[in-house]
Amino acid sequence: MNLEMLHPADQLVMFMERIYGYGMTTTSGGNLSVLDDNGDIWITPGSIDKGSLTRNDMVRITPDGEIIGNHKPSSEYPFHRHIYKARPDIKAVLHAHPPALVAFSIVRKLPNTSLIPNVKFSCGEIGMAKYGLPGSTDLGDKISEEFKKGFNTVILENHGVVIGAKSMFDAFKSFETLDFSARLEIDANNIGKPKSLTAEQIDWYKSRQNVSMDEFVENNISSAEKEARREICKLIKRAYNQQLFTSTQGTFSQRIDGDSFIITPAGADRKYLEPEDIVKINGDLKELGKIPSRSVELHKEIYKQHPHINSIIIAHPPCIMAFAVTDEPLDSRTIPESYILMRTIPKLEFGSNYMHPKETAAVFKENTPIAIIKNDCVIVTGTGLLNAFDRLEVAEYSARAIISAKDLGDVVTISDEEIGDIKKAFNLAE
Ligand SMILES: [Zn+2]
Repeated sequence: MNLEMLHPADQLVMFMERIYGYGMTTTSGGNLSVLDDNGDIWITPGSIDKGSLTRNDMVRITPDGEIIGNHKPSSEYPFHRHIYKARPDIKAVLHAHPPALVAFSIVRKLPNTSLIPNVKFSCGEIGMAKYGLPGSTDLGDKISEEFKKGFNTVILENHGVVIGAKSMFDAFKSFETLDFSARLEIDANNIGKPKSLTAEQIDWYKSRQNVSMDEFVENNISSAEKEARREICKLIKRAYNQQLFTSTQGTFSQRIDGDSFIITPAGADRKYLEPEDIVKINGDLKELGKIPSRSVELHKEIYKQHPHINSIIIAHPPCIMAFAVTDEPLDSRTIPESYILMRTIPKLEFGSNYMHPKETAAVFKENTPIAIIKNDCVIVTGTGLLNAFDRLEVAEYSARAIISAKDLGDVVTISDEEIGDIKKAFNLAE
């Protein structure tokens, strides 16, 4: 889907739905605007339920200040106008009050942008604007002051966050990434001491290129492959809606047969993936004209080394990621279901999945279906798509349970003897 071709009013509806639907703003809080090529600002209305906005609710403000629409514009319209004036490169502004970022705004601390690699290159350095009365010119001045310094992402003291970008999708991606990172930082602080990546590690991650592979023309798609493409898209959307993925991160793959498999494309918005977007890999060749996920080498190695694995998911769910950025182990001996599906979860060094795909693939065994890459992701394998997806959900829920339990008391794990009984009863590999 080419979001740039959508009318500004439709973009506002679409992204307000996404933000509200994911619990990142309340029905009265938050507002979005887009500056179009005529110089008109399209903005969400004030005092209208964010859960049921339509394109006809959006308000247009012309360059000479005329207001056109069925409602009055958002009361926070002044700071949108200030930002566009201060920064001609900005064409979309997103403002919201998601709980995790509000938490930072009320302790007046900036979120750590070095816990996971993509926050810094999605949001850049983050500014902090002094408190100001909502809707006032004073607040507009304080916010645009930060944008003038070059920040594109600004936390507002005792208020929320404002993001400016060249498109609404870019603003949304930055917002989603920052909110996600803030949530995992809060969780990580509950279980241990979060460890940051170095500037070199972040630069290295950013500099990774798409894998170059020769191409083949896909002209014989079996019904089984069509079914697998459909299933992948269905589960990716589910994973995205459950916030196990962000919009452009998270990879699914499924073996078709032997050394051929299908995998998600690099960079595409996970919410709108269609079966034809999925990329087929045949041995060392990729489907003509498509770009597979950058982790394709690792997927290839895992399928090559392990005939029992038919599906792989790479994801960044916030609770598992809290364990990925601290030294705290993700211990599966919480409830029997967790132990059965997760077994032992090793933590591998940051970058190992890209630098040493062969060695990383060798870690997976029948008794090791999941591995965490420090400060990056979790890799989950399964005998099929649903099995891998179930494992991912169980791992995230278990991580969430452990984080919550820390506030309640000491975690008691299932004993070795009890684990022995589980292994016998469920016929688990040693
Ligand atoms: Zn606000």
